[in-house]
Order: sequence, then C-alpha cells, then structure tokens
Amino acid sequence: MAIHLVVAEHDGLHLKNATLSALTAAKKNPGAMHGLVLGKNVKAIAETFASYVGKVHLAEHEALEHRLAQGYAKVIADVAKSIGATHIWAAATVAGKDIMPRVAIRLQAGMASEIQEVITENSFKRPVWAGDITGTVEINSPIKVITVRATEFDPAESLGLGEVAAISVEPGTTTMQYLSFDAVKSERPELGDARVVVSGGRGLKGPEGFKQLMEPLADALDAAIGASRAVCDAGWVPNDWQVGQTGKVVAPDLYIAVGISGAIQHVAGMKGSKVVVAINKDPEAPIFQVCDYGLVADAFTAVPELIKGLKEGKSR
Ligand SMILES: Cc1cc2nc3c(=O)[nH]c(=O)nc-3n(C[C@H](O)[C@H](O)[C@H](O)COP(=O)(O)OP(=O)(O)OC[C@H]3O[C@@H](n4cnc5c(N)ncnc54)[C@H](O)[C@@H]3O)c2cc1C
Repeated sequence: MAIHLVVAEHDGLHLKNATLSALTAAKKNPGAMHGLVLGKNVKAIAETFASYVGKVHLAEHEALEHRLAQGYAKVIADVAKSIGATHIWAAATVAGKDIMPRVAIRLQAGMASEIQEVITENSFKRPVWAGDITGTVEINSPIKVITVRATEFDPAESLGLGEVAAISVEPGTTTMQYLSFDAVKSERPELGDARVVVSGGRGLKGPEGFKQLMEPLADALDAAIGASRAVCDAGWVPNDWQVGQTGKVVAPDLYIAVGISGAIQHVAGMKGSKVVVAINKDPEAPIFQVCDYGLVADAFTAVPELIKGLKEGKSR
C-alpha cells in the first residue's frame, strides 16, 4: 500500500493554498496519508494542516526557522524514511522546486515535477515545451518524489480535526546561510491565489503607462497585478509579478491581458484561466488566439473607459 507524505509550505503564519492542491493530487491514489510541517513555532500551522490530512508530523528546530533547502531536504528525507513513505509530494512553487529535487537525490528516488494529472501510482502527466506538449512520466523507483502544479488541482476539503505529532529532527550542517528576506508588501491579493488578475505588457509603453492603467484597473476589480517578462526584465515592475513559463503559473476566474502579445512562454503561465480578456491594438497579436473576449483597441483609450464603466456599474 502506498504511504504518502505531503510537505506543507507556509510563510511562518499561514499554510499556503498550493499545499492543499498538492494534497488533492496525493489523494488521487489510495494509501496512508501523512503531512509534514517544518519550521520554528509552527504548531498552529501543523494543526491547520492536520485538519486536512488527518495526521501531521511537526518538525520544529532552530535551524528550520528559515527555509534553507539543504536542511529542509535532509529532514524531509529522514521523515520519509522513518515512515516508509513511497510518495513524497509538495507544491511546485519556488520553494518546492528548490527543495524537492534534493529530497529525491537523498532518497535515490525518481521524480516527476510540476505534474498536472495523476494517472496511476507511478505515472503522471506534466507539461513540456512551455505547455505545448503534455508528456507522461513513469517512475520506476520504489520511492517517488512529485511536485504538483497547484492550478490543476482544487484545494483539498477540510476533514475536521486531525492529529499532530511532534518529532525530533536533525537538519545537519548546511553550506547555505540565511541573510534576509525582502518581502514585497502589498494590499492586493497574491498573484497565485487571486480570483482576478490584470496583466500588463510592453504595449503600456513604460513604467508610468503601466502604473497609470494597471493600478486603477486592478483597484476596480480587486485584482492582483501580473506582467509579461519583457516588462519585468525592463524593470518596470517587480520580477515576482511575471506570469509565464519562467514566472508564475496562474489560473484565476478572470485574466485580463493588456498590451501583451501572447508569446507562447507567456501563455504557458495563464492558459488555465477560466475567462481570458485581451486588449491589444494589433488584430494579429497571438493573444487573440487564446482569449475568450478580445478587444482590438489602444490600451490608453480602452482601459480608462473600462475602469469608468466598472465604477459606474458598482455605483448603480
Ligand atoms: C526561455 C524563455 C522564457 C520566457 N519566459 C517568459 C515568461 O515566463 N513570461 C513572459 O511573459 N514572457 C516570457 N518570455 C518572453 C516572451 O517570449 C516574450 O518576449 C514576452 O512575453 C513579450 O512580452 P510583451 O507581450 O509584453 O511584449 P511584446 O511582444 O513587445 O508585445 C507588446 C504588445 O503590445 C501591443 N501594443 C503596443 N502598443 C499598444 C497599445 N497602445 N495598446 C494596446 N496594445 C498595444 C503590441 O501589439 C504587442 O502585441 C520568455 C522567453 C524565453 C526565450
């Protein structure tokens, strides 16, 4: 019988939603279900997670206060060995991508990364070539390490109460050193979790144009702001706003792309969105091939009109 270990991701205060999607993926195969929470003073997070998993191992240690991949990977691998885990799961976030390959190496396990479908106990579907092709990965090693594309699985439902067991762990030595964490503070919803995302591209001409159009549009829709890589690389907006193959993968209910051409690498990060709206002045722009509603217009005319309409609609 499979023994699943799902590794939780959190920010020290809250469990990340993406972890609950990884749990849904793990539950596609029958077997015993275990959760693992690592950190320092994170019992409350373990209790929350336990209410979804049933049983959670709580690994608290001074050296686990900051998420340094080497120590985290050692502890995850040690816990996996001690419970005889056959499948070790995590969300395919920046943290998951940093930590889980190290876990696979430690356990001599095969790995499937960023899966979008669970076929059987050892085969999984994942996007390749920027999502142009869906590949099937089969893992033949006894232990399997899997990271999950959170946008492809609904978050798991709560089971009610669960059990937390504190365990003693040894993170070992690490060549990594924690220096600081520069969190981007924002009142807006987080890009990966937002119901509505408005994304801007090079068609906005510069950082001023981006700010002038995208901020009021996001305010009017209570949306997160995303961007194309061209805009992030140019330094108009922070890098963690980038949507796409080498940025974040988002799947909101509504995605509005403004002045974005729709390059394959951008589309790879937003094509799971339920409704896509594109505003672009070039009728031949590839984004029109993937959108549900397209408006061929100058963004500097269309977006202010859209904002005005949204505000009037709200006040009615
Ligand atoms: C390995 C690799 C990985 C990559 N990863 C990513 C990624 O993760 N995310 C990503 O986004 N890109 C990624 N790229 C880059 C990608 O190929 C494109 O270069 C980029 O997405 C283009 O950004 P853009 O659409 O903003 O700019 P452009 O391609 O320059 O498009 C600008 C668009 O704005 C329109 N426009 C111009 N003026 C106006 C106006 N006034 N009103 C309305 N529309 C207007 C134009 O018609 C055009 O369609 C990657 C590339 C590579 C090679």
